[in-house]
Amino acid sequence: MRKTLVVGNWKMHGSRPANAELLAGILAARPFTADVAVCVPFPYLFETAATLAASDIRWGAQDVSAHEQGAYTGEVSAAMLAECGCRYALVGHSERRAYHGESDQLVADKAKALLARGVTPIVCVGETLAERDAGQTEDVVKRQLAAVIHTLAHCAGEIVVAYEPVWAIGTGRTATPEQAQAVHAVLRAQLQAATGHGDRMRILYGGSVKPDNAATLFAMPDIDGGLIGGASLKAADFVAICRAA
Ligand code: 13P
Repeated sequence: MRKTLVVGNWKMHGSRPANAELLAGILAARPFTADVAVCVPFPYLFETAATLAASDIRWGAQDVSAHEQGAYTGEVSAAMLAECGCRYALVGHSERRAYHGESDQLVADKAKALLARGVTPIVCVGETLAERDAGQTEDVVKRQLAAVIHTLAHCAGEIVVAYEPVWAIGTGRTATPEQAQAVHAVLRAQLQAATGHGDRMRILYGGSVKPDNAATLFAMPDIDGGLIGGASLKAADFVAICRAA
């Protein structure tokens, strides 16, 4: 019922030649049974769009402004992302929350701005190691998601949620399938209670997903795919993860 979705988050990596090689490798490996997308740095969106336009691989951005337009130097609006053909944009990635002080409410406002332009937000939530050790995991992710649910009212448009425990990002320390599943179940119950269609919403896992652990993660009942950082930068690894779905 929920189609698996695998999204590569390139973060601040890439160059025009490297991107061309990576995208060519992904295109050559089609077809995939999963939905597949890449979230690339802003300057590469148009070229990525041109490369992928004739395929079923989607593309997106890694952030967006909460503002519609105006004197916001350095910001990029949801309307601009829509013009670039973005199907998705990440909001609330832990690196944005940590390094740019993004609040739960700002993340929610960004998700709202995207939906208004027909771009699907991928809302990232996740606890730090200190929060997990203090037994606060559920409280933290529910608080982060609640702001989005509240701001979007009934979440009529499509949203995707990504559970990314901060301690698993870029560390090689993946959450076990059981740890991830437990949090995904909490998030799904929250979505279901708030919207009535949580059973149709995709919840991705992110944090040190690799070719050798993707299949067991994706096999869990409430894990609907992955948000892939480091392993999305090598075509062979990313393709292997897409095929694990
Ligand atoms: P890694 O896959 O490199 O751990 O990164 C996960 C992530 O932050 C994806 O958004």
